[in-house]
Amino acid sequence: MSKFMNPALSGLETYTPGEQPQDMKYIKLNTNESPYPPSPQVLAAVNAQEAADLRLYSDPESRALKQALAARYGVEPENVFLSNGSDDILNFAFLAFAGGGPDTGRKAWFPDITYGFYPVFTDLHHIVAMQIPLKDDFTIDPADYCSLGADGGMICIANPNAPTGLTLSLKQIEGILKANPDKVVLIDEAYVDFGAQSALPLIRQYENLLVVQTFSKSRSMAGARLGFAFAQAALIEDLETIKFSTNPYNINRLTNAAGIAALASDSYFSENCSRIMETRSWTKAALEELGFTVLPSAANFLFARAAGLSGMEVYRQLKAKGILIRHFEKPRIADFNRITIGTREEMETLIEKIREIIREV
Ligand code: PMP
Repeated sequence: MSKFMNPALSGLETYTPGEQPQDMKYIKLNTNESPYPPSPQVLAAVNAQEAADLRLYSDPESRALKQALAARYGVEPENVFLSNGSDDILNFAFLAFAGGGPDTGRKAWFPDITYGFYPVFTDLHHIVAMQIPLKDDFTIDPADYCSLGADGGMICIANPNAPTGLTLSLKQIEGILKANPDKVVLIDEAYVDFGAQSALPLIRQYENLLVVQTFSKSRSMAGARLGFAFAQAALIEDLETIKFSTNPYNINRLTNAAGIAALASDSYFSENCSRIMETRSWTKAALEELGFTVLPSAANFLFARAAGLSGMEVYRQLKAKGILIRHFEKPRIADFNRITIGTREEMETLIEKIREIIREV
């Protein structure tokens, strides 16, 4: 660190993304990417003309893409916010709806086991983080979020949760919204297309609801960096205020074109989601047959614990055999690993390699 670094940020513990090693070709089941390429329409949209137009700034309002998203999801463009990956939106939301410092009484509430970026955002923006333990079975108890007091701030819940893949029902989310009229309730739906219920239909009724989604997982576009959010117009305006105070051109021209094309190929997207869900069921059953405990997942990953082998050991041995999965060396979950659902062939190789590992111990 240089001597010039802002002292308030010098102790920041940054987010650790999943490893992206370049030393050899791995079967990558560690960062919840899609095993399938973007749709042919997306590939066609990112064409030579679009590349030539890179000399021009992109539309800071992303009007065409907002319009396409609004039409696809049955809302108005004023209900849509776009940014450079949903991480960017989460960052803006923490700053806008929970920032301001402890004197404001605003805090951020989220589960103790969830997406690892939330505590990074609270540290970054000096927000008091109230981490609420999951139950022993790793589920979220909605009642824990229904008596938090009248302070402002934000509740942030990933649904499905990461890395567990477990879900809350729409009814449970509605209970949380009703109990917290003075807090924004952000529902992070990065994995919603793989089998959970979206909270989007509730935005009309609840001014405190912010639903965040992404093109990274179900639409095979992690590398394009495109996140989107839905809420009533006033919350969207607040996010626009932050965007136009940081990076007005946050959606680049290629991503913009790719996003519009992806929405025009919706059947390709839903077929991929179905295939991933089918492969998830097959993989879960195969792991259970090998003695694993596997949580019921509504995401494009499984959270699984081997019998008689530590999570770290499974991770290490699979890596040595050319397969990357995600291990979190953290209290309560160190025995588990998160395994992204790849193609059926990739998952068959995974199961074969796990069988070998079990044989070798
Ligand atoms: N939310 C959750 C729960 C995630 O797991 C991820 C992926 N790491 C994100 C948000 C961010 O995804 P992206 O920035 O690629 O849209």
